[in-house]
Amino acid sequence: MPQDHFPTIETPILIVGGGPVGLALAADLGRRGAPCLVVEQGEGPADHPRATAINARSMEFMRRWGVVEAVRKASAPEDFPHTALYCTTLSGFEIARIDRPHHGGRGPTTTSPERAQRCNQIWLDPILRDLATSFASVDLRYRWRFEELIQTDDRVFATVHDLARDERRLIAAQFVIDCSGGHSVIRPQLGMTMSGSPYVGHFLSIFVKAPELWNHHAMGKAALINFVEPEGLWRNLVILDGRELYRFGVRGKEFYDAPDKADVERMFNEVVGKHVPHELISVRRWVARNVVSDAYRNGRVFFAGDAAHLSHPSSGLGLNTGLGDAVDLGWKLAATLAGWGGAGLLTSYEIERQPVGRRNISHADVSHQGDRERAPPPEIFADTPAGERARRTMGDAIVASMTRKFITDGLALGYRYDPSPICCNEAGAVPHTSIEDYYPNAVTGSRAPHAWLPDGRSIIDLYGRGFALVRLGDNAPDVSTIERAFASRAVPLSVESVTDPAIAALYERSLVLVRPDGHVAWRADAPPMDPTALVDRVRGASAATD
Ligand SMILES: Cc1cc2nc3c(=O)[nH]c(=O)nc-3n(C[C@H](O)[C@H](O)[C@H](O)COP(=O)(O)OP(=O)(O)OC[C@H]3O[C@@H](n4cnc5c(N)ncnc54)[C@H](O)[C@@H]3O)c2cc1C
Repeated sequence: MPQDHFPTIETPILIVGGGPVGLALAADLGRRGAPCLVVEQGEGPADHPRATAINARSMEFMRRWGVVEAVRKASAPEDFPHTALYCTTLSGFEIARIDRPHHGGRGPTTTSPERAQRCNQIWLDPILRDLATSFASVDLRYRWRFEELIQTDDRVFATVHDLARDERRLIAAQFVIDCSGGHSVIRPQLGMTMSGSPYVGHFLSIFVKAPELWNHHAMGKAALINFVEPEGLWRNLVILDGRELYRFGVRGKEFYDAPDKADVERMFNEVVGKHVPHELISVRRWVARNVVSDAYRNGRVFFAGDAAHLSHPSSGLGLNTGLGDAVDLGWKLAATLAGWGGAGLLTSYEIERQPVGRRNISHADVSHQGDRERAPPPEIFADTPAGERARRTMGDAIVASMTRKFITDGLALGYRYDPSPICCNEAGAVPHTSIEDYYPNAVTGSRAPHAWLPDGRSIIDLYGRGFALVRLGDNAPDVSTIERAFASRAVPLSVESVTDPAIAALYERSLVLVRPDGHVAWRADAPPMDPTALVDRVRGASAATD
């Protein structure tokens, strides 16, 4: 650690990386009044597109944070179909089409007040930045590059290079959260390893402007276009704004190794099938892997987002999984700083989030493999009856096997923290295993399910600050013993009464305790014999949580 003359900067929480996950965590902490410092080496949000698919759960977070309208506005137009299309070229033959009627647009679905949207990071990140910095307790520094850290029993000391002034700063924090993405420098410093699939893919990502491209071909509008070519599936086109901007993806180590030599102009014309008006904005290269960190914590350092897990983006799970990490960690860090969080609260982060990371990343691994290994029969390129039959056969196979690549509502909404040391998990609860479909349930550890309240709010709008104890039905028991127990431990609790019989049936118990992140911590038909044991359990302070 350098000893220079600059005063040490003290902060309870240092977030390294101001990408979407670091910004979301800062915003969640800011909303909870927990101070943090975010250091980001770049000059501002990224200007080359990466993530676009924002799932329904992430949109629920945006709703909680009060920016859902801004995200919807920055998303593809409401009527733009989220269809995944497979074709030979945009001027060639259609092979398959997977529609996603629950994604995009405005009206709620039966399972969530929010629909999945398509909002690229080039628009999402500035929204998250503005949200984070709207809180006085959030300090965001661009062009500050983290260099190294050391941990003591009660502190982490980090050296940061202020690139604008070319000066080193020493930051003393109680906790450091590594949100610095796939190229984390903290992971190697701490000897952290990642494991998972041996797959390594090399890609070019080409940012293209092609106004109203759909007017130049007969395939119609589609959000994701995969090209089936004689060599297999190695190029795709992803809409960004639903008007004129696209991300054109090209797989191949030879292009990755020598991007300057890749004739991206020719490649774009090839997949369109003819020359159309367009402009190439920027080209970046990137490597895809499907791996998860073997630990999400090292002492006082926590890992979230791409620093904790990396996935091929074909199922749109990387950013969404990272936002889930931020939401799980936010309230636990805030509770720890506020003094009511027990030692087991932060321990539960890895126990809850690593299995979600493993499940999502292994789905990403399987789903893009299906496309990679798909060998098209030569006749599908022929304008003949045999060609037509071959296209139908291949199309049916794609729809049968790839629908779960594009529709992952079960993963988005059905993830459950079970076992969790801070939830009173239910023995024998049926696991939520579906990837495509979400089956609403209030089993302990699950996201508390959505339902409309008579006043027009979603019941999930009641969650997201402190704990919420929901009394369901006309004869819900008195909860004063629970309220007293929470008050005795200074744990924030609101009590909500919901009489609608349909919601009571959905939640299945008369009393349901929902955590500050919206997950069910406990449910029963009567208050517990020992309410203090309950509050100690859910705040991570009982023997069971240590
Ligand atoms: C082509 C592509 C398409 C994708 N599509 C989707 C999708 O549709 N849906 C989805 O969910 N995910 C998608 N992803 C994945 C998604 O982009 C990532 O999961 C997401 O960006 C991770 O966010 P993050 O904040 O964890 O990391 P990053 O976005 O990588 O941000 C990390 C930040 O840390 C900063 N940083 C790094 N080192 C330092 C340092 N030493 N000091 C200070 N700052 C540092 C970086 O500058 C960067 O700003 C896609 C990815 C790619 C490549």
